[in-house]
Amino acid sequence: MTAISGKVVAITGASSGIGEATARLLAERGAAVVLGARRTERLDELARDIRDHGGRAIACATDVTRREDLEGLVGRAVAEFGRLDVLVGNAGISRLGPVADLDVDGWSAMIDVNLRGVLHGVAAALPVFRRQGRGHLVTTVSTSGLKIVPTQAVYAATKNAVRTLLEALRQESTDGVVRTTAVSPGFVNTELTDSIDDPRAREQARRTMDRIAIPPEAVARAIAFAVEQPHDVEIGEVTIRPTVQG
Ligand code: NDP
Repeated sequence: MTAISGKVVAITGASSGIGEATARLLAERGAAVVLGARRTERLDELARDIRDHGGRAIACATDVTRREDLEGLVGRAVAEFGRLDVLVGNAGISRLGPVADLDVDGWSAMIDVNLRGVLHGVAAALPVFRRQGRGHLVTTVSTSGLKIVPTQAVYAATKNAVRTLLEALRQESTDGVVRTTAVSPGFVNTELTDSIDDPRAREQARRTMDRIAIPPEAVARAIAFAVEQPHDVEIGEVTIRPTVQG
Protein backbone atom coordinates (compact mmCIF):
# COMPACT_ATOMS: atom_id res chain seq x y z
CA MET A 1 0.00 0.00 0.00
CA THR A 2 1.18 3.53 -0.77
CA ALA A 3 -0.48 6.88 -0.03
CA ILE A 4 -1.44 6.93 -3.70
CA SER A 5 -3.18 3.52 -3.65
CA GLY A 6 -6.83 3.74 -4.64
CA LYS A 7 -6.70 7.36 -5.85
CA VAL A 8 -8.33 8.12 -9.17
CA VAL A 9 -6.18 10.40 -11.30
CA ALA A 10 -7.02 11.88 -14.71
CA ILE A 11 -4.06 13.16 -16.71
CA THR A 12 -4.14 15.33 -19.84
CA GLY A 13 -1.26 15.05 -22.27
CA ALA A 14 -0.74 11.45 -21.19
CA SER A 15 0.32 10.18 -24.63
CA SER A 16 4.01 11.12 -24.21
CA GLY A 17 6.67 12.74 -22.06
CA ILE A 18 5.80 13.97 -18.58
CA GLY A 19 2.14 12.88 -18.78
CA GLU A 20 3.05 9.34 -19.79
CA ALA A 21 5.76 9.05 -17.11
CA THR A 22 3.33 10.38 -14.49
CA ALA A 23 0.66 7.88 -15.52
CA ARG A 24 3.12 4.99 -15.30
CA LEU A 25 4.47 6.03 -11.88
CA LEU A 26 1.08 6.78 -10.27
CA ALA A 27 -0.36 3.52 -11.63
CA GLU A 28 2.66 1.63 -10.30
CA ARG A 29 1.93 3.17 -6.88
CA GLY A 30 -1.68 2.03 -6.97
CA ALA A 31 -3.68 4.84 -8.59
CA ALA A 32 -6.35 4.21 -11.21
CA VAL A 33 -5.36 6.45 -14.12
CA VAL A 34 -7.56 7.96 -16.82
CA LEU A 35 -5.41 8.94 -19.77
CA GLY A 36 -6.35 11.90 -21.97
CA ALA A 37 -4.75 13.16 -25.20
CA ARG A 38 -5.48 13.26 -28.94
CA ARG A 39 -3.20 10.41 -30.11
CA THR A 40 -5.50 7.60 -29.04
CA GLU A 41 -3.37 4.75 -30.37
CA ARG A 42 -0.60 5.83 -28.00
CA LEU A 43 -3.07 6.10 -25.12
CA ASP A 44 -4.52 2.66 -25.84
CA GLU A 45 -1.04 1.14 -25.91
CA LEU A 46 -0.08 2.85 -22.64
CA ALA A 47 -3.31 1.81 -20.91
CA ARG A 48 -2.78 -1.78 -22.09
CA ASP A 49 0.81 -1.78 -20.85
CA ILE A 50 -0.21 -0.44 -17.42
CA ARG A 51 -2.96 -3.09 -17.16
CA ASP A 52 -0.52 -5.81 -18.27
CA HIS A 53 1.65 -4.79 -15.31
CA GLY A 54 -1.27 -5.14 -12.89
CA GLY A 55 -2.38 -1.50 -12.86
CA ARG A 56 -5.72 0.14 -13.58
CA ALA A 57 -5.88 2.45 -16.61
CA ILE A 58 -8.30 3.56 -19.28
CA ALA A 59 -7.78 5.76 -22.32
CA CYS A 60 -10.10 8.61 -23.22
CA ALA A 61 -9.69 10.66 -26.42
CA THR A 62 -9.30 14.25 -25.25
CA ASP A 63 -8.57 17.49 -27.05
CA VAL A 64 -8.18 20.00 -24.23
CA THR A 65 -9.23 22.88 -26.47
CA ARG A 66 -12.75 21.39 -26.40
CA ARG A 67 -14.61 21.91 -23.13
CA GLU A 68 -16.83 18.88 -23.75
CA ASP A 69 -13.75 16.63 -24.01
CA LEU A 70 -12.71 17.57 -20.49
CA GLU A 71 -16.24 16.93 -19.27
CA GLY A 72 -15.89 13.54 -20.98
CA LEU A 73 -12.52 12.79 -19.34
CA VAL A 74 -13.75 13.65 -15.85
CA GLY A 75 -17.04 11.84 -16.52
CA ARG A 76 -15.17 8.67 -17.54
CA ALA A 77 -13.17 8.74 -14.30
CA VAL A 78 -16.34 8.96 -12.23
CA ALA A 79 -18.22 6.41 -14.34
CA GLU A 80 -15.41 3.81 -14.33
CA PHE A 81 -13.82 4.34 -10.94
CA GLY A 82 -16.52 6.13 -8.91
CA ARG A 83 -14.69 9.40 -8.25
CA LEU A 84 -11.93 11.77 -9.30
CA ASP A 85 -9.27 12.55 -6.73
CA VAL A 86 -6.71 14.35 -8.90
CA LEU A 87 -6.73 16.10 -12.25
CA VAL A 88 -3.26 16.61 -13.73
CA GLY A 89 -3.62 19.40 -16.30
CA ASN A 90 -0.45 18.65 -18.18
CA ALA A 91 -1.20 18.95 -21.92
CA GLY A 92 0.90 21.67 -23.49
CA ILE A 93 2.53 22.92 -26.65
CA SER A 94 5.48 25.18 -27.15
CA ARG A 95 5.55 27.36 -30.28
CA LEU A 96 8.65 29.42 -29.56
CA GLY A 97 9.99 32.35 -31.55
CA PRO A 98 10.68 36.07 -31.23
CA VAL A 99 7.60 38.22 -30.66
CA ALA A 100 8.57 40.23 -33.78
CA ASP A 101 7.82 37.15 -35.93
CA LEU A 102 4.14 37.84 -35.16
CA ASP A 103 3.20 34.16 -35.15
CA VAL A 104 -0.34 35.01 -34.15
CA ASP A 105 -1.61 31.51 -34.96
CA GLY A 106 1.07 30.00 -32.72
CA TRP A 107 0.16 32.41 -29.92
CA SER A 108 -3.50 31.43 -30.23
CA ALA A 109 -2.66 27.73 -30.27
CA MET A 110 -0.62 28.05 -27.06
CA ILE A 111 -3.35 30.05 -25.36
CA ASP A 112 -5.93 27.47 -26.44
CA VAL A 113 -3.99 24.43 -25.20
CA ASN A 114 -1.86 25.74 -22.32
CA LEU A 115 -4.36 28.13 -20.73
CA ARG A 116 -7.87 27.45 -22.04
CA GLY A 117 -7.16 23.70 -21.80
CA VAL A 118 -6.43 24.02 -18.07
CA LEU A 119 -9.52 26.20 -17.58
CA HIS A 120 -11.64 23.54 -19.28
CA GLY A 121 -10.21 21.03 -16.81
CA VAL A 122 -11.04 23.30 -13.88
CA ALA A 123 -14.61 23.74 -15.16
CA ALA A 124 -15.06 19.97 -15.46
CA ALA A 125 -13.35 18.93 -12.21
CA LEU A 126 -14.37 21.59 -9.68
CA PRO A 127 -18.05 20.56 -9.39
CA VAL A 128 -16.93 16.94 -8.85
CA PHE A 129 -14.37 17.97 -6.23
CA ARG A 130 -17.01 20.08 -4.43
CA ARG A 131 -19.54 17.20 -4.51
CA GLN A 132 -16.95 14.79 -3.11
CA GLY A 133 -15.74 17.31 -0.50
CA ARG A 134 -12.18 17.06 -1.80
CA GLY A 135 -10.02 17.06 -4.89
CA HIS A 136 -6.58 18.03 -6.14
CA LEU A 137 -5.66 20.05 -9.21
CA VAL A 138 -2.07 19.65 -10.43
CA THR A 139 -0.80 21.59 -13.44
CA THR A 140 2.46 21.49 -15.35
CA VAL A 141 3.67 25.06 -15.69
CA SER A 142 7.34 25.87 -16.43
CA THR A 143 10.55 27.51 -15.31
CA SER A 144 10.01 29.58 -18.50
CA GLY A 145 7.52 31.55 -16.45
CA LEU A 146 10.05 32.10 -13.65
CA LYS A 147 13.06 33.22 -15.70
CA ILE A 148 11.94 35.11 -18.78
CA VAL A 149 14.11 34.56 -21.85
CA PRO A 150 13.79 35.67 -25.50
CA THR A 151 11.66 33.47 -27.87
CA GLN A 152 9.51 32.21 -24.99
CA ALA A 153 7.31 35.27 -24.39
CA VAL A 154 3.84 33.88 -25.11
CA TYR A 155 4.64 30.35 -23.94
CA ALA A 156 5.86 31.79 -20.60
CA ALA A 157 2.82 34.07 -20.45
CA THR A 158 0.44 31.10 -20.75
CA LYS A 159 2.31 29.24 -18.01
CA ASN A 160 2.31 32.28 -15.72
CA ALA A 161 -1.40 32.75 -16.36
CA VAL A 162 -1.96 29.19 -15.12
CA ARG A 163 0.25 29.88 -12.11
CA THR A 164 -1.92 32.92 -11.31
CA LEU A 165 -5.10 30.89 -11.79
CA LEU A 166 -3.91 28.25 -9.33
CA GLU A 167 -2.88 30.78 -6.70
CA ALA A 168 -6.30 32.44 -6.90
CA LEU A 169 -8.03 29.07 -6.71
CA ARG A 170 -5.87 28.19 -3.70
CA GLN A 171 -6.94 31.37 -1.92
CA GLU A 172 -10.58 30.69 -2.77
CA SER A 173 -10.33 27.16 -1.36
CA THR A 174 -9.68 27.84 2.31
CA ASP A 175 -12.65 25.59 3.13
CA GLY A 176 -10.14 22.78 2.51
CA VAL A 177 -11.94 21.15 -0.41
CA VAL A 178 -9.49 21.80 -3.24
CA ARG A 179 -5.72 21.41 -3.18
CA THR A 180 -3.65 23.01 -5.95
CA THR A 181 -0.11 22.24 -7.08
CA ALA A 182 1.83 24.06 -9.81
CA VAL A 183 4.77 21.97 -11.01
CA SER A 184 7.47 23.96 -12.83
CA PRO A 185 9.84 21.76 -14.82
CA GLY A 186 13.02 23.08 -16.37
CA PHE A 187 14.52 21.29 -19.39
CA VAL A 188 12.98 17.82 -19.65
CA ASN A 189 13.77 15.37 -22.42
CA THR A 190 10.42 14.90 -24.21
CA GLU A 191 8.82 15.45 -27.60
CA LEU A 192 7.91 19.04 -26.70
CA THR A 193 10.57 20.54 -28.96
CA ASP A 194 8.81 18.92 -31.96
CA SER A 195 6.02 21.50 -31.57
CA ILE A 196 8.43 24.44 -32.05
CA ASP A 197 7.89 25.78 -35.60
CA ASP A 198 10.68 28.31 -35.72
CA PRO A 199 13.72 26.31 -36.97
CA ARG A 200 16.25 28.43 -35.04
CA ALA A 201 14.34 28.18 -31.76
CA ARG A 202 13.76 24.43 -32.33
CA GLU A 203 17.43 23.76 -33.04
CA GLN A 204 18.52 25.79 -30.02
CA ALA A 205 16.01 24.01 -27.76
CA ARG A 206 17.10 20.59 -29.04
CA ARG A 207 20.77 21.36 -28.47
CA THR A 208 20.03 22.45 -24.91
CA MET A 209 17.86 19.36 -24.35
CA ASP A 210 20.61 17.04 -25.61
CA ARG A 211 23.11 18.71 -23.34
CA ILE A 212 21.32 19.07 -20.02
CA ALA A 213 17.73 17.81 -19.99
CA ILE A 214 16.49 15.50 -17.22
CA PRO A 215 14.14 12.57 -17.91
CA PRO A 216 10.34 12.98 -17.59
CA GLU A 217 10.35 10.43 -14.75
CA ALA A 218 12.01 13.12 -12.58
CA VAL A 219 8.95 15.35 -12.97
CA ALA A 220 6.64 12.38 -12.42
CA ARG A 221 8.30 11.81 -9.03
CA ALA A 222 7.65 15.45 -8.08
CA ILE A 223 3.97 15.10 -9.04
CA ALA A 224 3.72 11.86 -7.07
CA PHE A 225 5.22 13.64 -4.04
CA ALA A 226 2.46 16.27 -4.17
CA VAL A 227 -0.28 13.67 -4.74
CA GLU A 228 0.80 11.38 -1.91
CA GLN A 229 0.55 14.06 0.81
CA PRO A 230 -2.41 13.77 3.19
CA HIS A 231 -5.30 16.03 2.16
CA ASP A 232 -4.55 18.66 4.84
CA VAL A 233 -1.08 19.19 3.32
CA GLU A 234 -0.81 21.14 0.09
CA ILE A 235 2.38 21.25 -1.97
CA GLY A 236 1.69 24.58 -3.68
CA GLU A 237 4.67 24.87 -6.00
CA VAL A 238 7.44 22.54 -7.04
CA THR A 239 10.34 23.58 -9.26
CA ILE A 240 12.33 20.75 -10.76
CA ARG A 241 15.14 21.44 -13.18
CA PRO A 242 18.50 20.00 -14.22
CA THR A 243 21.07 20.87 -11.57
CA VAL A 244 23.19 22.55 -14.27
CA GLN A 245 20.33 24.69 -15.68
CA GLY A 246 20.99 28.44 -15.35
P1 NDP B 1 5.24 16.21 -24.92
O1 NDP B 1 5.20 16.91 -26.24
O2 NDP B 1 5.91 14.90 -24.82
O3 NDP B 1 3.78 16.08 -24.32
C1 NDP B 1 2.77 17.01 -24.56
C2 NDP B 1 1.46 16.34 -24.36
O4 NDP B 1 0.41 17.30 -24.56
C3 NDP B 1 1.23 15.20 -25.35
O5 NDP B 1 0.72 14.10 -24.65
C4 NDP B 1 0.18 15.76 -26.29
O6 NDP B 1 -0.69 14.71 -26.72
C5 NDP B 1 -0.57 16.69 -25.37
N1 NDP B 1 -1.33 17.70 -26.10
C6 NDP B 1 -0.91 18.67 -26.93
N2 NDP B 1 -1.96 19.34 -27.44
C7 NDP B 1 -3.07 18.77 -26.91
C8 NDP B 1 -4.46 19.01 -27.03
N3 NDP B 1 -4.96 19.98 -27.83
N4 NDP B 1 -5.33 18.23 -26.35
C9 NDP B 1 -4.86 17.25 -25.54
N5 NDP B 1 -3.57 16.97 -25.37
C10 NDP B 1 -2.69 17.73 -26.05
O7 NDP B 1 5.93 17.26 -23.95
P2 NDP B 1 6.10 17.32 -22.35
O8 NDP B 1 5.82 16.03 -21.73
O9 NDP B 1 7.41 17.97 -22.11
O10 NDP B 1 4.98 18.38 -21.97
C11 NDP B 1 4.08 18.21 -20.91
C12 NDP B 1 3.88 19.54 -20.21
O11 NDP B 1 5.09 19.94 -19.58
C13 NDP B 1 3.49 20.69 -21.15
O12 NDP B 1 2.49 21.48 -20.56
C14 NDP B 1 4.78 21.49 -21.26
O13 NDP B 1 4.54 22.84 -21.57
C15 NDP B 1 5.35 21.30 -19.87
N6 NDP B 1 6.78 21.56 -19.73
C16 NDP B 1 7.68 20.82 -20.43
C17 NDP B 1 9.03 21.10 -20.32
C18 NDP B 1 10.09 20.37 -21.07
O14 NDP B 1 11.26 20.79 -21.04
N7 NDP B 1 9.78 19.26 -21.76
C19 NDP B 1 9.52 22.18 -19.43
C20 NDP B 1 8.47 22.85 -18.74
C21 NDP B 1 7.16 22.56 -18.88
P3 NDP B 1 -1.39 14.58 -28.15
O15 NDP B 1 -0.50 15.23 -29.16
O16 NDP B 1 -1.53 13.10 -28.32
O17 NDP B 1 -2.72 15.27 -27.98
